[in-house]
Formats: sequence, C-alpha cells, structure tokens
Amino acid sequence: MTEIKKNILILGGAGFIGSNLATKLITDGHSVTCFDNLNTGRLINLEKLKDSNRFNFIKGDIRNDFDFENNFDFVFNLACPASPPKYQINELFTLDTSYIGTSNALKFASKNKSVFLMASTSEIYGDPLITPQNEEYRGNVNTTGLRACYDEGKRVAETLCSIWHRQYGLDARICRIFNTYGPNMDPFDGRVISNFLNQVLQNKPITVYGDGRQTRSFCYVDDLIDGLIKVAFAKAYNGVVNLGNEVEFTILELTEIIKTQFDYHQEIEFKELPEDDPMQRKPDLTKVRELYNWKPKIELGQGLKKTFDYFRSSA
Ligand code: NAD
Ligand code: UDP
Repeated sequence: MTEIKKNILILGGAGFIGSNLATKLITDGHSVTCFDNLNTGRLINLEKLKDSNRFNFIKGDIRNDFDFENNFDFVFNLACPASPPKYQINELFTLDTSYIGTSNALKFASKNKSVFLMASTSEIYGDPLITPQNEEYRGNVNTTGLRACYDEGKRVAETLCSIWHRQYGLDARICRIFNTYGPNMDPFDGRVISNFLNQVLQNKPITVYGDGRQTRSFCYVDDLIDGLIKVAFAKAYNGVVNLGNEVEFTILELTEIIKTQFDYHQEIEFKELPEDDPMQRKPDLTKVRELYNWKPKIELGQGLKKTFDYFRSSA
C-alpha cells in the first residue's frame, strides 16, 4: 500500500481496466474521480464504489475540452474503446478520442502539474516483424486499414505525450499494454477471452478466426493494475514501458486450455480472419522488470477461472 494518499483522475474509469484501477486505488485509501462518456464503459463496474466518499463519477467525453476543479496528483488516460469490433464501429470517434481527447487530457493535466499516465497499446507495434516486441521496436502498422483508427490513434497519443514532456516539462508516462483480461470485461465486447468463456457458458461452439495459429500473450488484470500503479507512482520518469505477460499462446492452444479446464467438448467453428489481425504478439518485459521490479504473477488457468466465475455470476 502506498503511504501518502493521492487524488486521482481516471479518464475511461467505467471501462474494464479503469474500473479495476479505480477499485484498487480506493481500496488503497486514495480518492478517485472517474470521467467517462459510457461509450463502452458500464456503471455497473463502479457500483461497489459509489458509496465511498472518496469516489466520484463525472459523465463526459474527452473529445470535448473539459475543465473542472483540478487538484489531481495523477491523471490516467484510459479513455478509448479497446476491443476491435467496438473500436471499429465508429472509426473517427476512436481516432478523435486518442488524438483530440488525449490533447485535451494533457492540457488538463499540465494546468495542475499532475503526473500523466497514458494507456497505450501493443497495437502500436501493428503486425510485428520481431518477437518479442521491445520498446525500441517502431512497429509495422497499416495506416489505412480497419485497425488504423486505434493503432494510429494510440501512436499519435504517444507522440503528444512526448511533445508535452519535451515542450512543457509534463511528466507524461506511457504504458504499452498487451492483451489483458479479467472481471469487469463486458461479456459481449467481442475480444477472444470474453468470447470463448461466454461460448462455454452458453454451450456454443468456440469461434476461432483464421487457422488459430496467430499468437497472443494474456495478462490478468490484477497484474496489469499493479504495473500501472508502479509506473505512475515511481519517482523517476522513464518514458515508455511495455506491460503484459510474456507467456505466448496460439489461439488454438487457448481453445485447448479452455476445453481442458472447463471440461468442454463443443467443436471449434472456424471463421474468417479479420483484416490486419496481427500474427504474433509477445512483450519484451526487460525494461519494466529492471526499472520497476514488476512482473506478472497470475497464470492463465488461474485468471481464466476468476474471469469465468465473474461472467457466470453476472450472467
Ligand atoms: P474499455 O472499452 O472497457 O474501456 C474504455 C473506457 O473509455 C470505457 O469506459 C469508455 O466508455 C471510455 N471512453 C471511450 N471513449 C471515450 C471518450 N471519448 N470520452 C470519455 N470516455 C471514453 O477498454 P479497456 O480494456 O478497459 O481499455 C482501457 C484502456 O487500455 C484503453 O485506452 C485501451 O486502449 C488500453 N488497452 C487495453 C488493452 C486490453 O487488453 N484491455 C490492451 C491495450 C491497451
Ligand atoms: N479471435 C478469435 N475468436 C474470437 C475473437 C478473437 O479467434 O471469437 C482472435 C482474433 O482474431 C485475434 C485474437 O483472437 O487473433 C485476439 O483477439 P482480440 O479481439 O481479443 O484482441 P486483439 O489482440 O486482436 O486486439
């Protein structure tokens, strides 16, 4: 538990990661304001916090210039839909959220000299040509494809953070988050773990896109939150770090793990691979390990069980 209690703003605080972050910070004794337009976020994620006098919710959109009483020690910018089917519903909304929204958020943080933490993504590496992906790798993104609204939006958000740091001295830190899962995910957000676990719950075939040989590395949300807090609360500014889990699985391996763990016998339904779906993704965690002594602890089986229990209890 961190010693001095802080006042913290979470943009996108009603979403999956934002609500888990808010819960952990409130539990640790800090004061938290969540600011969210409820695009993909859900108030149910914040239900348990609403009676705390250290918690506050403001409905608003970071694409609009925003200002309110601002004595925040930290501003976390998590506002942006993160699931591919969701962020592709309105590509301009997604791009504007990362570009215009992050500009507004940085301006807001700068006025009060808050520490700013940007939730960036492994997607800035696109369909990577090296593995594992370290922070020096510049990526392989299709600038005109369906995923560009998200990938390029996050790339420009990183650029904005770097400019505000150089030009105005803002302490704007960047975490590149790799695939994260856990309780408070929207069961219908279309991401692979929520899809597979809900298919098990509903006794439906597991849907694999493409041949299932593409890889992902899955991080349980509690580990990620621990990493985000470590990076934000650290004394030193260290620019960009990857946060995720290094253990890499093919999507077909994931189906096997789920079938064994939940004793599930439905067949697999193969579907078309979405455009520009990256073939591999695995973080190089050397930097975050060396600088912050952080590494994920929760194994996939353990995390899948907690997530499954969450989906079952909220169904
Ligand atoms: P999410 O969709 O559950 O949460 C995003 C939140 O941002 C939602 O509550 C949504 O309503 C809010 N939001 C979106 N646009 C907004 C806007 N214009 N103004 C105000 N609020 C807005 O997604 P998540 O998985 O919790 O992801 C949170 C952040 O972490 C995102 O920025 C995402 O890019 C990043 N990230 C997530 C993952 C992952 O695997 N979950 C991986 C990499 C990066
Ligand atoms: N995927 C799948 N079946 C699904 C949902 C996703 O095979 O029902 C695949 C998807 O094509 C991708 C991987 O799982 O290769 C991870 O997808 P997700 O949407 O969770 O996140 P991404 O890493 O692509 O942003």
